[in-house]
Amino acid sequence: MKSLAELLQQSAFSEADLLRLLKTSDPAQCQALYAEAFRRTTLVHGNTIYFRGLIEISNICVYDCRYCGIRKGNAAARRYTLSMDEILEAARYALKAGYGSVALQSGERNDPKFIDFIEEICAAIHDMSVKEFGIAQGCGMTLSFGEQTPQTYERWAAAAGNRNALRYLLRIETSNQKLFARLHSGQGKAQKTYAARLQALADLRNAGYQVGTGVMIGIPGQTEEDLVRDILTFRELDVDMLGMGPYLVSHGGAMIDEGMMQKDALLRLTRNMLSTTRLALPTVNIAAATALETLQTGARSLGVLSGCNVMMPNVTPQRTRASYQLYDNKQGTEAEPDSNVMLEAELIAKTGRKIGRHLLGSSVHFRSRQEGSKQN
Ligand code: SAH
Repeated sequence: MKSLAELLQQSAFSEADLLRLLKTSDPAQCQALYAEAFRRTTLVHGNTIYFRGLIEISNICVYDCRYCGIRKGNAAARRYTLSMDEILEAARYALKAGYGSVALQSGERNDPKFIDFIEEICAAIHDMSVKEFGIAQGCGMTLSFGEQTPQTYERWAAAAGNRNALRYLLRIETSNQKLFARLHSGQGKAQKTYAARLQALADLRNAGYQVGTGVMIGIPGQTEEDLVRDILTFRELDVDMLGMGPYLVSHGGAMIDEGMMQKDALLRLTRNMLSTTRLALPTVNIAAATALETLQTGARSLGVLSGCNVMMPNVTPQRTRASYQLYDNKQGTEAEPDSNVMLEAELIAKTGRKIGRHLLGSSVHFRSRQEGSKQN
C-alpha cells in the first residue's frame, strides 16, 4: 500500500487514493495532509482569502428538509424577512469594509412576490455598488435561494448586473441518492429530489452563473465512501465553487433522534474532506463554512489551513441573526457586524493569509473556463 507521503506527491488521485486521504487518522499524518492542501492552495490561488458579506434575507421556507432548523414544519421558528432598507444597509456595510462581493441567502420560496423582491434587491445592490462605491462593473453577487426556474435565474442574473461575478450556491447535500431521499422525506407535498437538484445546477450553468455546490459532512448514515463519491460528483459537475461544513443537529429539524458525530471526530473528518477535495480540485474556490465555527470557535481558520480560500462574514443585522438558525448554537448571533469583522480579520491573520479587499474573487477554475471559451 502507498504511504501517505507518496500519495501527497501525486497530482491525480484514484477513488481508492481519495478514500485513503479522507480516512487519515494519525495526528501527524493529518497535519501533513492539511499542510499539503494549504501549500497547493497557495500555488494556485496565492495568499489571498476572498470575503463575501453574507446577508440572511429571510428564514421563511416552503420546504421541509429534515436536517434544517428553518424548515417549514418547525413551528417554533420566529419568521422574519428583512426590509429592502435593512438589506441595503447590510450590503453597504460589506462594501465599505472592502469585500468586493455579497452573498444573499434565505429559506426557499418560489412565489412571484418573492421572485420580484429578490430581483429588486439584486438591482438595488448592483446600483449602489456602482454609484456609491464606484465599482465600475458592479460588485460580485452570490445568490443562494434554492431551486428556481431557468426564467427566474435569468431575471436575477440580469438584475445582478455584473455577469463576470455572478454566482449561485446550491448544495447537493450528499451524492448518495438514498440518503438524499431520506434527508428530504419530510411532511408536505413539496419535496426535493436529487434529479431536480442536478437539473437546477445545469440550469444555473446555462444561465451564466459560476456554479457552487457542496455537501454536509458527517450526516447520520453517511459513509466515507459517500464523501469520496461527493468529490467525484463535484468534478463531474465541473463546479466553480464549493461550500462544505459539518452536519450539526438542529432542534428545529426532524433528525434529533439520529444525533450527530462526536465533535473531535467531526472536526477531523471535516478538515480531511476539505483537504482531500482541495487536492482533487485544485482550481475551485472553497469556502470555510460558518458551521465549522459552530463546531469549534476559531475553526474557520483551521478551514483556511486545510485548503479553503473563501470566507463569508455574516453582515446580517443583529435583530434577526439568531432567527436564521439552520442548526443549533450558530456562532456570531450575539455580535454586531463590527466585532464579527474584527474576528474574521484575526482568524485570517492566524493563518498567514491576507484578506483580499476590493476584489471580485472569482475562482481560477471559472476564469480558466472563460479564457478557454474565448479561445474557441
Ligand atoms: N434554502 C437555501 C439556502 C439555505 S440552507 C438552500 O437550500 O440552498 C443553506 C445550507 O445550510 C444547506 O444547503 C445545508 O447544507 C446547510 N444546513 C442546513 N441545515 C444544516 C445543519 N443542520 N447542519 C449543517 N448544515 C446545515
